[in-house]
Amino acid sequence: MRVFFPIFVFAAIVLLAFVAFNTMNRSNQPVLSGWRGPVHASASLAANIVGSTDVSSQQGLIGVAEPQGRGLSDSLVPTGNPLGVANTVMTQGYGVGTHAPAAVWGAIDLAIDGNGDGKADPEGTWNQPVYATHAGQVKITSNSWPAGNHVWVTNELYRTGYAHLSGFAVSDGQWVNPGDVIGYIGSTGMSSGPHLDYQVWVWRDGQWVNQNPLDYNVFAASGR
Ligand SMILES: [Zn+2]
Repeated sequence: MRVFFPIFVFAAIVLLAFVAFNTMNRSNQPVLSGWRGPVHASASLAANIVGSTDVSSQQGLIGVAEPQGRGLSDSLVPTGNPLGVANTVMTQGYGVGTHAPAAVWGAIDLAIDGNGDGKADPEGTWNQPVYATHAGQVKITSNSWPAGNHVWVTNELYRTGYAHLSGFAVSDGQWVNPGDVIGYIGSTGMSSGPHLDYQVWVWRDGQWVNQNPLDYNVFAASGR
């Protein structure tokens, strides 16, 4: 065995030299790969922005369009009156009655004062259009309890619920923008008269957290 030892040592030295040469050779290459790298990276980044529904990349795109109106990043946040009319009346407040506890059932009930006496009336409320207050994807559920026919509009940041509808104006999975008609006021599910049960939820710390819809400009003077 001793006779072969120098051969192994020699072979090992040759191998090390080969590896060292290769490593040195490669270390000369980053100039080339460094030039190609950013080109490749920005190309795939652009592809991500175009193809992705990720909020941050949408916001990146939106910045450009923002001056023309409500930007897409803004449109993710619920704002305004889902009934879209000034003579909207709140018939049950947040966190009280069937809306308690707020963490579970937080919502407000809205109806319309059709005859101008300051109170909501069924005649003015039935089948009036209900509008999405922000952009998101639609999930519809029919004949459920207690929400009846209801719509969820969901994006990465917010979710709004529209319950007791008489009918739908959207289909499951559809993307809606603020102001799109999503359905019509009804009295389906646990409801004693036509009204809209409106809920706002925010995605926070890995879960949906119920919000007071009045904090989202339902009765703002400027409307939507
Ligand atoms: Zn309600």
